[in-house]
Amino acid sequence: MKSETRAQLRDLAIANRILAEQGVLDAFGHVSLRDPEDPSRYYIARSLAPEQVTIDDLQLYTLQNESVDGDARTPYAERAIHGGVYEARPEVLAVCHNHAPGVIPFGITGVPLRPVFHMAGRLGGDIPVWDIAAEFGDGSDLLVKTVEHGRSLARTLGPRPVALMRGHGSVVAAPSLRGVVMSAVYLERNAQLQMQALAMGAGNVHYLSDAEIATIVGQSENPLGLDRSWNCWRDRVQLPPE
Ligand code: MN
Repeated sequence: MKSETRAQLRDLAIANRILAEQGVLDAFGHVSLRDPEDPSRYYIARSLAPEQVTIDDLQLYTLQNESVDGDARTPYAERAIHGGVYEARPEVLAVCHNHAPGVIPFGITGVPLRPVFHMAGRLGGDIPVWDIAAEFGDGSDLLVKTVEHGRSLARTLGPRPVALMRGHGSVVAAPSLRGVVMSAVYLERNAQLQMQALAMGAGNVHYLSDAEIATIVGQSENPLGLDRSWNCWRDRVQLPPE
């Protein structure tokens, strides 16, 4: 493994801790990174609370979610979310699946989640909801456990950065690890703010316009913002060993 790759894997461990500290992940949920040395594989932690993840906890999977090296430690049941998105989206280098609480109401009410402030413009103006029951029937445990589940979710996500999952959470995709952290944090912030705005002035919420969202999406990988937020949030967590 190249030394740059190991540095990126430590950043993946740090991203897990940041997203836990920011209230996006709790004991559950995960963030992954496409292998910088082989785009047909991705790194994700073994089954573990995100704030406890170190480099040594990372496992390597194919895009069909099979272990590359026979690592026998218990994996996340829902790693198929990550394989499905990486398989469908060659430009995506990082994926986060979370159960952030503010997002849940938008997956179950039919009220569209839409950016209400500039930091959330990067989420795009069209955030779809995937319902596992629509394709796989009633009675599931709602978990994305098979390649077919992951591919179905990825089809709903399409080219977008975010899709909600009915009664479950969301999936966030980005061309960088810092980008996926930023999007996941501001997805939850936007959900909370949008609910407050709807409660205060239902029918009178002034959302970002499509043109404003398009402008902000075009700036979403600007390192000025990504590096500032990463450096700030990184300093709030206990850093994993190098
Ligand atoms: Mn889940």
